[in-house]
Amino acid sequence: MRIVLLGPPGSGKGTQATMLVEQLKVPHISTGALLRNAAKRGTALGLQAKAITDKGELVPDNIMSDMIEERLGRDDVSGGFILDGYPRNVAQAISLDEMLERLNTPADEAIHIDIDPEQIIKRIARRAEVEGRSDDTKETVRNRMRVYAEQTAPVADYYAERGILTRVLGDGDKEEILQRILSVLSISPTSDCITE
Ligand code: ADP
Repeated sequence: MRIVLLGPPGSGKGTQATMLVEQLKVPHISTGALLRNAAKRGTALGLQAKAITDKGELVPDNIMSDMIEERLGRDDVSGGFILDGYPRNVAQAISLDEMLERLNTPADEAIHIDIDPEQIIKRIARRAEVEGRSDDTKETVRNRMRVYAEQTAPVADYYAERGILTRVLGDGDKEEILQRILSVLSISPTSDCITE
């Protein structure tokens, strides 16, 4: 099962991806997390990326495609993956398609989590208090939302044209949203993930 998760910042992609891992037993690949780890380790690339992510801009495509190609080349990806944060513009979507075609493993599903901007602001403000991510400041969040609208929203249209996009409402509690995603994937939950 090869899934691309799409949605604006704060739409809950990361949360849903973590929950999906338990259901699907495939790795969660988050480019945001890969970049934050690189920054934490203090690698040259990590520090360069941090300066960009802190402004809410996109890290250059060539850096991202190298990073994702390396990750998709590892053994644990043979059974599939949940991709979160990539692709973030149409050039990245094309590059990912080419990469996956070369590996003979095209993406099966693209799922877009829809959420209204008011909720995004509230959720990220809450996350900023809990996680203290350096790109969750008000000004950077505003820029991330602008970059999303201009560059990432067209990626959903790209997958819609390819016939593999489904939009899921990202409103409600996280279990409910997970159920919506699982039903898109025609999967019934494997464990007691549903808390009544
Ligand atoms: P969110 O989806 O909440 O905005 P992420 O953790 O996915 O957060 O990403 C954080 C930041 O990392 C982005 O704002 C961007 O600067 C950078 N980033 C992540 N993925 C990519 C990508 N595919 N291309 C370019 N930049 C990226």
